[in-house]
Amino acid sequence: MQSIEIHMFPCLRDNYGFLLHDEEAGVTAAVDTPEVQAILEALGEKNWKLTHILNTHHHSDHAGGNIAIKEVTGCKIIGPRADASRIPGIDVLVGEGDEFKLGDHPIKVFDTPGHTRGHIVYHLPEDQVAFVGDTLFAMGCGRLFEGTPTQMWTSLQKLMQWPDETRVYCAHEYTQANARFALSVEPGNKMLSERAREVDALRARDEPTIPTTIGMEKATNPFLRPMSPEIGAAVGAHDVDLTEVFARTRALKDVF
Ligand code: ZN
Ligand code: FE
Repeated sequence: MQSIEIHMFPCLRDNYGFLLHDEEAGVTAAVDTPEVQAILEALGEKNWKLTHILNTHHHSDHAGGNIAIKEVTGCKIIGPRADASRIPGIDVLVGEGDEFKLGDHPIKVFDTPGHTRGHIVYHLPEDQVAFVGDTLFAMGCGRLFEGTPTQMWTSLQKLMQWPDETRVYCAHEYTQANARFALSVEPGNKMLSERAREVDALRARDEPTIPTTIGMEKATNPFLRPMSPEIGAAVGAHDVDLTEVFARTRALKDVF
C-alpha cells in the first residue's frame, strides 16, 4: 500500500489546514475546516476533489468552514458523536474505538475530551500518522475549556500509546511559545533546549515546526512528562500523583 499523501498549509493566523489524498481510490479528506478559501485553493492547486471532512472538534477555527465547503464540493462530513449537535453539516458520527477507511487507509478514532468535551483525534496506524486537533501541540496541549485535568491527562495517555515514530499533525503553530514555557519548568532537559533552538531557527525562516512525533513529544513536552522530577519540583508538587502534576503544569501555562 502506498502511503497516504498529506498536504499541509497555513490558515488564518496560526492554524494549519491538512488534505489527505489517496490517488488510487480517488478520495481526498480535509482535516477540519479552518478557512474556506485556503482549503479550496489548496484543492485547486493539487487538482484534488474533496470527498470528506474529518472534524476534530466544534470550535469555529476547526468546523467553521464545514457548510461552505460541503456546498461547493458535496463532501461527507465525519465528526465526533459526542458533539454531533455542534458540528455543522455532520453526516457520519464516530467515537472511541471506531475504525473506518479512507480509500485503502484504516483510520482509528479516539475520544480525547479536555479541550472540548467532544474532541476526537484520528490515527492512521498503517501510515504512522495522526491528526490531533487541539489536544496535543508540539511541546504543549490544548487549553481545558470544557474538561478537567483528569480527562485531559487520560486523553494524552492514549496518544502516548502510539509508536514513537508516529508523525503527529497538530492544528496550530504554537511551538515557539510552548518551548519557552517548557524550558521554564524543565530547564535541565537537554533534548528540550536543543529542540527549542531548532524551533527558533525554523521559525526565523518562517518554516513550520509541524509535524512532530510521539517520541519527540514524550522526550520534550512537559504535559506528557509529569513523571519528571524536575517538572514536579517546578510546579511545587511533592508526593502527589501524576494527574495533579499535570493539572498544576496546565494551570501554570495558563498564566505564563
Ligand atoms: Zn480548539
Ligand atoms: Fe484551534
